[in-house]
Amino acid sequence: MRAHLADGTAIEADVAVTALGAVRNTEWLAGSGLSFDAGGVDCDVDGHALEVDGQPDLAIAAAGDVARFPHPLYGRRRIAVEHWGHAVAQGVHAGRMLAGDKPDRSYAALPAFWSGQAGVTIKSVGLTDGADSMTIAHGDTAAGRFLALYGRAGRCIAAVSVDCGRWLPAYAALIAENAPFPPKGAATDRAGPLKILASGLT
Ligand SMILES: Cc1cc2nc3c(=O)[nH]c(=O)nc-3n(C[C@H](O)[C@H](O)[C@H](O)COP(=O)(O)OP(=O)(O)OC[C@H]3O[C@@H](n4cnc5c(N)ncnc54)[C@H](O)[C@@H]3O)c2cc1C
Repeated sequence: MRAHLADGTAIEADVAVTALGAVRNTEWLAGSGLSFDAGGVDCDVDGHALEVDGQPDLAIAAAGDVARFPHPLYGRRRIAVEHWGHAVAQGVHAGRMLAGDKPDRSYAALPAFWSGQAGVTIKSVGLTDGADSMTIAHGDTAAGRFLALYGRAGRCIAAVSVDCGRWLPAYAALIAENAPFPPKGAATDRAGPLKILASGLT
């Protein structure tokens, strides 16, 4: 197989991975006075768009893929969560806020998505980036049914299930409460202690 590139060159390849849909259309905001780039619009924790001086514009909110906001569960790192459910939930939060509703607390929904790929159901909660360790908490990778739990600096940050989504809500609760990793007393089908592995994601 050969990939022909726009510059006229070609690359021999055994496998081609196609990626699409990750480019934000932010160019129309040029001259708006808002802080943005090709990676998204900078927002405060509630989704108010920030002006270039870093001050929130209380009349403008962003939600979904385009909104980069300091997520309370992830050290207030400014991130954009690219999941369908998040776009809906953050849009509802932004809409209520702009309508004058005062939310009890900042938007902090746990990132979550599921996807069906080649007959396999993959479900994920939290964000795996920055993980320094992981463990297979349920199932068996060789059998293709398992749940991997990810840790960072001794805290649970994400879980990914492959055809094993039944257990995911319990781990979502641990991640939402920033529980210690490895979890103490968590339900698992392991006979002995959990085996801690390198995450491969650092
Ligand atoms: C291939 C692919 C597979 C995915 N699979 C999953 C999955 O399995 N699970 C999951 O949770 N998420 C998945 N996602 C991510 C999910 O689709 C996005 O997180 C979600 O659609 C984000 O919603 P949004 O409203 O923020 O943005 P979008 O859905 O991108 O909507 C933005 C809209 O704004 C319009 N627009 C852009 N510029 C302008 C302009 N200047 N004026 C007017 N309109 C404009 C665009 O045309 C578009 O309709 C997938 C994404 C892709 C690309």
